[in-house]
Amino acid sequence: MGMPASLTLSERIRRIEVSATMAITAEALRLKSQGVDLADFGAGEPHFSTPEHIKRAAIEAIERNYTRYTAVAGIPEIRRAIVDRHAADFGTDYTPEECVFTTGGKLALFNAIEVLVEHGDEVIVPVPAWVSYKDIIQFAGGTPVFVETSEADNFRVTATMIEAAITPKTRAIILNSPSNPSGAIIAKEDLQNIVRLAHERGIYALLDECYVYLCFDSEPVSGASVTECKEHIVVLGSLSKSYAMTGWRAGFALGPKPVISAMNKLQSQSTSNTNTVVQHASIAALTGSQQCVAEMRAGYLEIRDKVLEGFKSIPGLTCTVPQGAFYVYPNVSAFFGKGGVQTASDIAARLLSEAHVVCVPGEPFGTAQHIRLSYAVSSNVVNEGIKRMQSFFGSLR
Ligand code: PLP
Repeated sequence: MGMPASLTLSERIRRIEVSATMAITAEALRLKSQGVDLADFGAGEPHFSTPEHIKRAAIEAIERNYTRYTAVAGIPEIRRAIVDRHAADFGTDYTPEECVFTTGGKLALFNAIEVLVEHGDEVIVPVPAWVSYKDIIQFAGGTPVFVETSEADNFRVTATMIEAAITPKTRAIILNSPSNPSGAIIAKEDLQNIVRLAHERGIYALLDECYVYLCFDSEPVSGASVTECKEHIVVLGSLSKSYAMTGWRAGFALGPKPVISAMNKLQSQSTSNTNTVVQHASIAALTGSQQCVAEMRAGYLEIRDKVLEGFKSIPGLTCTVPQGAFYVYPNVSAFFGKGGVQTASDIAARLLSEAHVVCVPGEPFGTAQHIRLSYAVSSNVVNEGIKRMQSFFGSLR
């Protein structure tokens, strides 16, 4: 159905696009509904179930009738649980007044950008980067400024690279470590240098810590541990991936009081408080044993190695070793010009239609030579997926 000619949507909404991954997801769903057996590496979410103690806390909350409105920023206990967890893990010293609980980490990022970014402001984004940053910045009237990183250097982001992109219009920098889509980690020293640079220049460091607990070879690091730069740091946190809670929609922000108050004000005119039951479940997640996080992390590491091992049997495919999150980002450019494929998008589309393998092309993440696979899947799916990829890529040569 077309849109009536008289309906003109706001300029604001016309500035953004639906998620770039939608087309491939829609096609995958269509094939699935026809009964096609897909090896699905598309969705960026844990295949694990939410741990039992978290589910029980939610059920208990319902039984106790914790079902009413709460303070917009969340009940004191959830904000206390968030700041205590962050302090214990990273040595930060946030107070509950410097914390807002949000309906998912995405809303924390959205609201932070809305209250900080003015029309014409620039926000620095190292690429490859999560698809949503660009649109969230543009919705606020800002301009994303992409900083390229080098695959040969494991997608390293340094203060020197960020400094070269700063202009008088720069308002913020978004840092995401471990990274979606590459799984790369920003080394502690680089992260701290970038945070210090931001503070010196009066720019906000927006730290997207969505995958912070999914680090394989090193201890999790937060840029917010440089507490002397607190004035210019906003932490954007999520329970989605660490606790396998994507559908619950649980996220938060930690930051300077004026920024958090402004985010609270915005939230008071939109979602109000996050679901009360989810607040109680999230307290259980953050204050209970963290063993479940360690177990899931070990699970991802095992699957990562299986996937990387499988990739070795596909000549032409090269891949950096992801140090965190649950994504691999292989380079497929060796296949461009072969068998009728020209781009990563062509490869993703053909992998889906011919091999029934779901992945996401690199273009929306800001690099044209890659595809992203989420390996938060069972080992059966990995085995089957690798087999199908071997024969697909073999057929292109
Ligand atoms: N940041 C990154 C890098 C992500 O990949 C995601 C989800 O995929 C989010 C933030 C938001 O997660 P959620 O809104 O589920 O907390």
